[in-house]
Amino acid sequence: MTATLEDLSFDNRFTADLPADPEVGGGSRQVNEAAYSRVSPAPVASPRLIAHSPEVAEMLGISRDVVESEQFLEVFSGNTTISAMDPHAACYGGHQFGNWAGQLGDGRAITLGEVTDSAGTRLTLQLKGAGPTPYSRGADGLAVLRSSVREFLCSEAMHHLGVPTTRALSLITTGDQVMRDMFYDGNPGLEPGAVVCRVAPSFIRFGNFEIFRSRDDIATLRRLADHTILTHFPELGEPSPEVYTAWVAEVARRTASMIVEWQRVGFVHGVMNTDNMSIHGLTIDYGPYGWLEDYDPGWTPNTTDRQFKRYRYGAQPHIGQWNITQLANAIHPLVGEVDPLQDAIEQYVATFNQQWPLMMAAKLGIRAFDDSRDAALIERLLELLPAVETDMTLFFRGLADVAVGDESGQMSDDELLAPLLDAYYEPDQLNGDIRSATLDWLRDYSTRIATEGSAANERRSAMNSVNPRFVLRNYLAQLAIDDAEKGDPGLVIELLDVLRKPYDQQPGHERFAEKRPDWARSRPGCSMLSCSS
Ligand code: AMP
Ligand code: MG
Repeated sequence: MTATLEDLSFDNRFTADLPADPEVGGGSRQVNEAAYSRVSPAPVASPRLIAHSPEVAEMLGISRDVVESEQFLEVFSGNTTISAMDPHAACYGGHQFGNWAGQLGDGRAITLGEVTDSAGTRLTLQLKGAGPTPYSRGADGLAVLRSSVREFLCSEAMHHLGVPTTRALSLITTGDQVMRDMFYDGNPGLEPGAVVCRVAPSFIRFGNFEIFRSRDDIATLRRLADHTILTHFPELGEPSPEVYTAWVAEVARRTASMIVEWQRVGFVHGVMNTDNMSIHGLTIDYGPYGWLEDYDPGWTPNTTDRQFKRYRYGAQPHIGQWNITQLANAIHPLVGEVDPLQDAIEQYVATFNQQWPLMMAAKLGIRAFDDSRDAALIERLLELLPAVETDMTLFFRGLADVAVGDESGQMSDDELLAPLLDAYYEPDQLNGDIRSATLDWLRDYSTRIATEGSAANERRSAMNSVNPRFVLRNYLAQLAIDDAEKGDPGLVIELLDVLRKPYDQQPGHERFAEKRPDWARSRPGCSMLSCSS
């Protein structure tokens, strides 16, 4: 454990291996033939630590005393840096909503440096909301408390759910006010500013490769690919056309696995642009994301995507493939052939198609998945869930308590349905054909599960280990934000704690497992979000 932050061991490979923009700091501009620009975080008025993740601090070897120190507050608010850091903003491009957007880059993120431990684990520290960079494109480079609470809580919640994600070390308010037009309706207002320190092996995105490909800058593209493989995928071997292809295939597999996990827990990213896709297959850039409350594959939380719903829950698997195709296109000049890259993209499809049914089977408590009969059972359920407003999280949690086999055979319809009733937003909607179809499904389900011969408690604990009881429901995040904006971080800290054990029953914390209350149905922040953050 470190006595001060100076004791952290930095090994800044990204800046050491790759070409730098010759200009340091400065205003918005196009940056050519460089992977990053050196830039310092902007000082803030009066930083205050709102919350931190003890697990992430521990991973970094940062002791409790250091977390509580003045130095921690100064460094992770952006007021100061330590000499072994090499603060910079990365240059990247991206496809936004399906269209090439040109240079984007870290417009409000500043990477401080890469911490390594004795085991060789590499953790990059990045401040989000630490002031303008050459990639800010005229915007302020800042973040508001509202969006910072959302990023901080959700990335930690996702980790504890077992979903690959970037992590968050700290959430600090800056004491500065930030102007935002939250609803994009011409009524901007001041909001408290905040900085999150996020942590990941690297923050390299698909878009970091796309920008060089788009400029035909193959030399820098190759340097970035070589750096990425040698630093983060050394098991693939020395870079060569075959290794570049193997790397795309590996990113494809990781991305597919990540999206299977999103589907499992009902997470909707909201902005799956290629600049928001991590080459590690980690969930990154928590913006207008949301959690499915009622199961609706057509839902997206992002108001900017209201018209076409490109990034709706049900489209995420396909979009992952589209994004991998963009990465493969970017790498093409290094490979020279199309077919091997096509095979690499196929790895996405193969991985998804292999893992998704197993994931769904696990949610249903099926251990020995048998495609020939279970695929239809899964499909029928996914048609029933959106037919009446059904809370996804409560439904799967309740399903573990549904009786199976002989026990269910003697039950009345009402008794069989009882464990699921809480999941229905409007229980009266469950009538007529839908009610009979649901009961038919439940009886078939019960028969199917009985063939597995597992004891009820074994089945329940297996199902409860993949079907969370606690997710960061959209309205819960908003309640925590409301309090934090009034100066009370209590709910942020309490939620962080509850979401640390999302699969446990946690008696006494029922209120965090309840379905969305009626008032939250249409309240901004609870159902729909803009990108304004
Ligand atoms: P996002 O939608 O958050 O992934 O952001 C897309 C692009 O806009 C990235 O290049 C961001 O760095 C940039 N960006 C978003 N908000 C700001 C801001 N307040 N100041 C500067 N750049 C921003
Ligand atoms: Mg982004």
